[in-house]
Amino acid sequence: MPPSLLLHRAPCARPGPAPRAASRLSASVVSAANGAGGSRPPKPRPPPRGKPRFSRQSAIRKSFQQEQVVFSTPVPADPTVAVIGGGASGLACASALAARGVRSVVFDTGKHGLGGRLATRAVHEERRLVFDHAAQFFTASDERFRKLVDEWVDRGLVREWRGSVGELQAGGQFTPTPSSTPRYIGVNGMRPLADALLPENDLIKVIRPSWISKLEPFNGLWRLFENEKPQGQYDAIVIAHNGKCANRLLSTSGLPQLTKQMKRLDLSSVWALLAAFEDPLPIPHNSSHGAFEGAFVRDVDSLSWMANNTRKLFPLETDRPECWTFFSTASYGRKNKVPQENIPNATAEKVKREMLGGVELALGLSTGSLQLPFYTRVQLWGAALPMNTPGVPCIFDPQGRAGICGDWLTGSSIEAAVLSGMSLGDHVADYFASHGERPEEFAIGLDDSLIRVEGHDIGQFPGLDSQKPQVAEPQLTLSI
Ligand SMILES: Cc1cc2nc3c(=O)[nH]c(=O)nc-3n(C[C@H](O)[C@H](O)[C@H](O)COP(=O)(O)OP(=O)(O)OC[C@H]3O[C@@H](n4cnc5c(N)ncnc54)[C@H](O)[C@@H]3O)c2cc1C
Repeated sequence: MPPSLLLHRAPCARPGPAPRAASRLSASVVSAANGAGGSRPPKPRPPPRGKPRFSRQSAIRKSFQQEQVVFSTPVPADPTVAVIGGGASGLACASALAARGVRSVVFDTGKHGLGGRLATRAVHEERRLVFDHAAQFFTASDERFRKLVDEWVDRGLVREWRGSVGELQAGGQFTPTPSSTPRYIGVNGMRPLADALLPENDLIKVIRPSWISKLEPFNGLWRLFENEKPQGQYDAIVIAHNGKCANRLLSTSGLPQLTKQMKRLDLSSVWALLAAFEDPLPIPHNSSHGAFEGAFVRDVDSLSWMANNTRKLFPLETDRPECWTFFSTASYGRKNKVPQENIPNATAEKVKREMLGGVELALGLSTGSLQLPFYTRVQLWGAALPMNTPGVPCIFDPQGRAGICGDWLTGSSIEAAVLSGMSLGDHVADYFASHGERPEEFAIGLDDSLIRVEGHDIGQFPGLDSQKPQVAEPQLTLSI
């Protein structure tokens, strides 16, 4: 038996296979003080009368000094994994698990659909206004992701975006980015790709909208709760989301290593302005590339990206209004951050005004000359994109039978998210196949330090020329 298993074996754990029922004994909480073979932690004494049961201080202490949960019962023959988060990474993970015959249940908060930041909004039934309001397009540099994208292309879900994309300097100077690397878009927007990530079999169950608020190890299984409502028990868990929500969920989970890694992650904030215009915007164009459809904007604080969804998604339908997605820079997002679920009207108005002002500046238009949009919506992506990464495909804690996947593990793109999910799905399936007998071999990403993510304020596009880091021109000074 591997030494780590011996070290953490719970006194109540039974060797040999056990039925998949509540009688299965396994998870023990081993405190650092308990050390090898530790005994059950003493039952907490009831608090003295009149004192609150929980204090903020004790909650904070608990999150920093969590006791590691250790599962030591054998892995069952038919395990089920809970995947918390139905974005690109969580869905890719569930799909990879299914490909290996492992069941999973995916929980996602999405009211309108799965996908997370693979987000498309369709409004106004008559006028059919469609906006990709997070991911705009993607590249495919890794063989595994390319294979998936090829399948999507064959199924008519994805196509190359051949419209002109490049860099727009404040004042209206546009430079197209050479299109040697294909740029892909969802034919009907990004969100349908989320459903396409799920294979058609009964190994994956999706529960949505559902916000998992508590994780609890119990009798060798992970119990999940949505507020106080039980949401089942599982042999392993996957955290496929990040930010405040994940930090809160992990803070009392008994997974200190996962908690520590998640807390190291820094995320940017980005404002999105969706705007529909009756008439085409005055976009600079020339005979070689025509009017641009997407541009990374330079030197405008309130704007880092602008894209014409109408031209991108419906290039042949010339009578539609123009639906534009504008994104702020990360620095503007940081300066104007508010709670994203409760944006004050005054802030929404200010951001809209300043971002439309940014559009004028970017296009070289005089102040106040931009036509007024007939539809607008502002949204804050409060946890928009990772700013640092451990550079590992996924994180897995075999003692706690818990893992993390997401874009931030290797970068900040749909490709990074999908590859991370695939990697974790395979890794967890391998772990199950080993019957959990050599847990130490399956620990991954638990200690890696995080390094800065390079790329654009809206993520990375491996292979694209504009992806290359901007190197500041050296200032020439003459000394006489
Ligand atoms: C403004 C913006 C522009 C972008 N542009 C591009 C681009 O052009 N190209 C590109 O490749 N990438 C782009 N990205 C990045 C890309 O969208 C992400 O890298 C990718 O979609 C991340 O997928 P994920 O699965 O890691 O996370 P997410 O998509 O964030 O998925 C996490 C999911 O978990 C859910 N969730 C959270 N907490 C819980 C809980 N407690 N219980 C249940 N569910 C929960 C969330 O609701 C969400 O659906 C952009 C991102 C933003 C914000």
